[in-house]
Amino acid sequence: MSAEIAQDHEASFTAILEQCHTAAVDAGIPDSHSLPEGFSGTLGYFPVYFPDEIAHAAGLLPVNILGGGNKLEMKHADARMGSFVCSICRSTTELGLNGTLQSLSAFVTHPICDAAKHLAGIWSRNLPDQGAEILYLPQNPNSPGAARYVAAEYQRLRAELARKVGHPISDAAIRSSTRLYNRKRRLMRDLYQIRRDEPWKLSCSESYMLVRAGTRISCEQHIELLEQALDAIRHRHVVAQDKPRVLFVGGFCEQPPLEMLETIDDVCFVVDDDLLIGQRWLTEDVPEDAGDPVWALAESYIQRSNASPVQHDERKPKDQYLMAMLRAANADAVILTAAKFCEPGLDDQLFWSKDLDEAGVQYLVLEFEEKMTSFEQMSMQVETFAESLLFALA
Ligand code: SF4
Repeated sequence: MSAEIAQDHEASFTAILEQCHTAAVDAGIPDSHSLPEGFSGTLGYFPVYFPDEIAHAAGLLPVNILGGGNKLEMKHADARMGSFVCSICRSTTELGLNGTLQSLSAFVTHPICDAAKHLAGIWSRNLPDQGAEILYLPQNPNSPGAARYVAAEYQRLRAELARKVGHPISDAAIRSSTRLYNRKRRLMRDLYQIRRDEPWKLSCSESYMLVRAGTRISCEQHIELLEQALDAIRHRHVVAQDKPRVLFVGGFCEQPPLEMLETIDDVCFVVDDDLLIGQRWLTEDVPEDAGDPVWALAESYIQRSNASPVQHDERKPKDQYLMAMLRAANADAVILTAAKFCEPGLDDQLFWSKDLDEAGVQYLVLEFEEKMTSFEQMSMQVETFAESLLFALA
């Protein structure tokens, strides 16, 4: 390939990343003037997982509300929440109170932990006009009735959204949305495959931005972006540097600042992670022509899904799924992170460090907060960790 063509691919990839950054971080929640074609409103949901297909089929743009990042000024929420609550809950409340989320047609939370469980109540009390729904996804998916229960919750959500948009949500519309989301999930799996096979072609922070854009734009737009990005990445000419291969875990709910991921990228190849795991929750295609498309989504949630610290599935024991990730990605070590005050994340950090000790796998423990702005100390820790790994692997 000529140097000129390689430069063109690089330039187009840079432009795609900028577009993703604008969509995911800089632009606000789309309002009635900026909604993509075919949508009549937006549905905001709190991490970790939400069945986007049902909102999409209703004509509501599903928007994953991922907190306020490190630029948000807290003016109202601190007076309404304890100081021991994690940042994403506090900043999400702030975004509600400062009017940033006022264009949402609906807001849905999940009882993933004590903090998130109470978010709907705080929201309803402080924002009575907007209100919040709770989608009760089971924390114990091993009961024989779990898929039936999830399907019933999805049908309740479907009825509620149909009431909001003023028309029924047909099975055909859900099947069509499922087909689209399957395509998007396949593309995200391709991104992660590149990270495992040729990590020098796609850094963790780049892949994160490509996935995160999908939390704000329509599935149709995201598919187009991902297809263009994958083409550019496959044509990328990047020299593989000498860096250790690591896993990053702890980004399943509150999001680490982008600067933190970039700091790690500087000295490590992050060959797999659990960032935005809800966007990649379903690990295989959902059956597209099922007689009952809601059942197909519910059954996929229980049977063919990823793992996270907020779900307790005995088929995915904490130690085994981390070790499986480690083996599948051929990683040398793990960066074990948790958001400050995140009980489920800190619990698993403890479990995982014990398992990694027993298996003799090196790891670095880091704590983060979405509002962090200083990374010097973390940078030194990560650099020292990477150097010690390279020394041990030499
Ligand atoms: S970051 Fe942790 S504590 Fe906070 S809402 Fe998410 S799971 Fe709960």
